[in-house]
Amino acid sequence: MKSSSAPNIDSASRGTVFDIQDFSLHDGPGIRTTIFFKGCPLRCAWCQNPESQQKHAELLVDTDKCDGCARCVFVCPHRAIAIRDGKAVTNRQLCEGAGDCTTVCPQNARQLIGRQTTAHTAFDEAAHDALFFERSGGGITLSGGEPLMQPLLAISILRRCKAFGFHTTLDTCGYAKWQTVASVLRYVDLVLYDFKHMDPAEHARLTGVSNRLILENVKRIQHELEVPMRARVPIVPGCNDSDDNLHATAAFIALELAPTIPVHLNPYHRLGVGKYARLERHDYAIDAEPPSAARMQYIKRLFETYGLQTEIGG
Ligand code: SF4
Ligand code: SF4
Repeated sequence: MKSSSAPNIDSASRGTVFDIQDFSLHDGPGIRTTIFFKGCPLRCAWCQNPESQQKHAELLVDTDKCDGCARCVFVCPHRAIAIRDGKAVTNRQLCEGAGDCTTVCPQNARQLIGRQTTAHTAFDEAAHDALFFERSGGGITLSGGEPLMQPLLAISILRRCKAFGFHTTLDTCGYAKWQTVASVLRYVDLVLYDFKHMDPAEHARLTGVSNRLILENVKRIQHELEVPMRARVPIVPGCNDSDDNLHATAAFIALELAPTIPVHLNPYHRLGVGKYARLERHDYAIDAEPPSAARMQYIKRLFETYGLQTEIGG
């Protein structure tokens, strides 16, 4: 796609993304391309994308595939890899994510997550599906990780979307200075906002940060910026699915924001658990089972008693 017609775009803004996914159907209206930013200020106990949390590139290692050939040991410029009991073991304190080891592994056991990009490059990649955006009412979504952690990259991509007439969606946890939120949302048509727990202390225990800033920001988005919004509520058994918290969440959305905000309930799943092992992390904190279909229907009805149009995600 030619970029010369876009006015005043800072296409040199750089940052780190870990995926650009086309044909996304759940990140806003129509068919979309979602750009996943790397880096997140939260550490949710149930996070299924732990590879998104650090801002720098990280290695995923599938130890089962490793045959101990030691090729990676010899190319690592930081001497971060050693062979123990016939398997390559990476010292994460020494690894700087250069990725030389990923290029020599004959078993494809090592994969680098995260790459530096410019706004120009990320936009051009995402804009390949422009025809589908037009036909389906879709567009480009920024997700993560947390896009608000890289506001210059986010703004540069979004401005470019606007210059080409693409619908834009921001998927956010809302934890950022108001100035950052407001400057990014100038270019956003729809915001997907996460509600993880309504009690500040519990929110801090489960995610690492209080919810005060997050709730202040969402009120200002609704009442000052008036950007269309959808609420996203993860349902994590034993963490945030008590009736008290569900009522508090529904009441906040319906009464403090607006009863017209659609709510999307996302049942907890364990699909990402294996990634913690491949990141050689041992801090996956919860031992929950996914909620049953009957439980999700009960929660949906609970939200609907507040007049909220509520859907259950996959
Ligand atoms: S906000 Fe999302 S990406 Fe960040 S830690 Fe929580 S679940 Fe993971
Ligand atoms: S190069 Fe691959 S297979 Fe060989 S030791 Fe390293 S991780 Fe294992």
